Amino acid sequence: MENTKIPYKIYLEESEMPKSWYNLRADMKNKPAPLLNPATHQPMTAQELSAVFCEELVKQELDNDTAYFEIPQEIRDFYKMYRPSPLVRAYCLEEKLDTPAKIYYKFEGNNTSGSHKLNSAIAQAYYAKKQGLKGVTTETGAGQWGTALSMACSYLDLDCKVYMVKVSYEQKPFRREVMRTYGASVTPSPSMETEVGKKILAAHPGTTGSLGCAISEAVEKAVSSEGYRYVLGSVLNQVLLHQSVIGLETKTALDKYGIKPDIIIGCAGGGSNLGGLIAPFMGEKIKNGADYRIIAVEPASCPSLTRGTYAYDFCDTGMVCPLAKMYTLGSSFIPSPNHAGGLRYHGMSSVLSQLYDDGLMEARSYSQTQVFEAAEYFARVEGILPAPESSHAIRGAIDEALKCKETGEEKTIVFGLTGTGYFDMVAYESFHDGKMTDYIPTDDDIKASIANLPKI
Ligand SMILES: *Cc1c(COP(=O)(O)O)cnc(C)c1O
Repeated sequence: MENTKIPYKIYLEESEMPKSWYNLRADMKNKPAPLLNPATHQPMTAQELSAVFCEELVKQELDNDTAYFEIPQEIRDFYKMYRPSPLVRAYCLEEKLDTPAKIYYKFEGNNTSGSHKLNSAIAQAYYAKKQGLKGVTTETGAGQWGTALSMACSYLDLDCKVYMVKVSYEQKPFRREVMRTYGASVTPSPSMETEVGKKILAAHPGTTGSLGCAISEAVEKAVSSEGYRYVLGSVLNQVLLHQSVIGLETKTALDKYGIKPDIIIGCAGGGSNLGGLIAPFMGEKIKNGADYRIIAVEPASCPSLTRGTYAYDFCDTGMVCPLAKMYTLGSSFIPSPNHAGGLRYHGMSSVLSQLYDDGLMEARSYSQTQVFEAAEYFARVEGILPAPESSHAIRGAIDEALKCKETGEEKTIVFGLTGTGYFDMVAYESFHDGKMTDYIPTDDDIKASIANLPKI
């Protein structure tokens, strides 16, 4: 170990934990495009959004000017149960790779829900409770968001209705049961409980569902039930705001030891963990020209940044949600059924889309076997069993560290390790058995779904 002054894990004192979330939009020169009403194509007003989302969250969603939002004391107290999360110096990985690079990862998997999603779940549940609501509805794919939200709702004594993509509901019974343990009701989507679910089932009998479809059902359930609102675990500005706690803690920990990262890497599904991790660093890059390289890593089977189009699109399959301007593969895009690596949303956060379009960050994609190779390597060297989603970032970090080995550069690499993979062992199994395939959509596949973009 060449530098024993930096501990394996950099923890923060409770008093060093962030007291405010950081809203990167306040410092962006080109603001992310507003959400549009799907019928009138006019920017969504606070009033329109309040039919779907909690009032306080609507304010956060629409605010491009306030740089800091104080984190309410109740949320800070909840955070103390599982935060600060450690920033780990990956000494073992560096040694194994024989790289001069210094690698750090921010580990968000140290809570029962197993991912960073709890950071926003508790915030959204808190504002729903404060508004006097009875409960919230949401969708979940693989189940991490649903799990996080059920934990937050049970803590605050709120009802939680989760629409779970049918294929996951059937293939991931353990996730479903964790949610039910925390008191949530879990419905496989599409279901016969909603009009949009019935419509989708009539058009595609036997469909195993998709995230876009579960979103439509959850939104319909919220707006048609007295005392309920809809909450979403990624993509939205408010979610990136809450997730800034990841980046703020990371920055405080690095600053304590005078470490300046050269490269910051995160996996990108809807963009919330990456947006949160990079927020304070991107803020410095925009304000003072700090020269961080920021890299988003996505699956080659769902490549919204690397192969998508920057345009207004529907956020859901049923087309009931507002339109968002984002890098998108088209709302009808569904990744190949053998895709097991998560990050399967067709679009990307408007904030990250704008930053990417402005050339402030890079993006790359990996096939799922490349990702699982990195996952297994990391598990064996660093001990943590990573989520497949997180392993996209691991792969990116390993590749950058190997480049340093070639050039002899001692770069400092920080990546987000968003969660653990205990519920993803079926995917690990198919990798171990050599059954995992790499279907990469053709240009024609993508063209076909892009053809359905709304005409604005
Ligand atoms: C949901 C999830 C992601 C992807 O979501 P983002 O909003 O892009 O951060 C990544 N890793 C884990 C473990 C997740 O649960």
